[in-house]
Amino acid sequence: MKMGTSRQRVRQIESRLGERYGAAEKPRVDPLDELIHTVLSQNTSDTNRDRAWSSLREEYGSWEEVLEHGAERLERTIRVAGLAQGKAGTILRALRRSSDGGSPSLERLRNMSDEEALDYLTAIKGVGTKTAACVLCFSLGRPVMPVDTHVHRVTRRLGLVPDRATPERAHEVLNEIVPPELRFSLHILLIRHGRETCRARTPACPGCVLLDLCPRVGLTDTDA
Ligand code: SF4
Repeated sequence: MKMGTSRQRVRQIESRLGERYGAAEKPRVDPLDELIHTVLSQNTSDTNRDRAWSSLREEYGSWEEVLEHGAERLERTIRVAGLAQGKAGTILRALRRSSDGGSPSLERLRNMSDEEALDYLTAIKGVGTKTAACVLCFSLGRPVMPVDTHVHRVTRRLGLVPDRATPERAHEVLNEIVPPELRFSLHILLIRHGRETCRARTPACPGCVLLDLCPRVGLTDTDA
């Protein structure tokens, strides 16, 4: 598929999903909060991520305190999010790296290019491309499109990325074919579409607003 054709399809898809689900509102949160929030969300439900985030905020008065009290207490505090040992390790590494002798902060990212900021974040063990892209997209307002499980699945079915593309490859392809001004809204809309319509096991193709634009890669007639 040629680039121009892909971009036209992307615009059509974004527009249809926008009509179906409404415009996506752009959140602006502190980049360090966003990073830790996204680490907590790895491999768990939104509910458990939110519960872990609330206990974290109740247990500690600041990110410095989290660093002072170490891994064991942090693991206990965020246990509800699952994989607590790994997530606690990533959070502590992120806090150490972002402290640099002072209070933990990722404000320095604002002075970096997209590529530099992605490199800075993914150099923290446990922080992958998707997590780093969430920080750039949601906190810094950068035109970077994070690829989570819903975006990955839906864009493969739509044929926007190769069927066998890893999330990292999907990230590269989507950031090439999705116009910068649509990356944030398309990310939000594809997640909503993946949750409500293009579900992993039971996609509701017959009523889908994208049906005439979708080759339904990887699905058979009995899947919907
Ligand atoms: S037609 Fe089916 S596979 Fe394609 S986007 Fe819609 S729900 Fe997903």
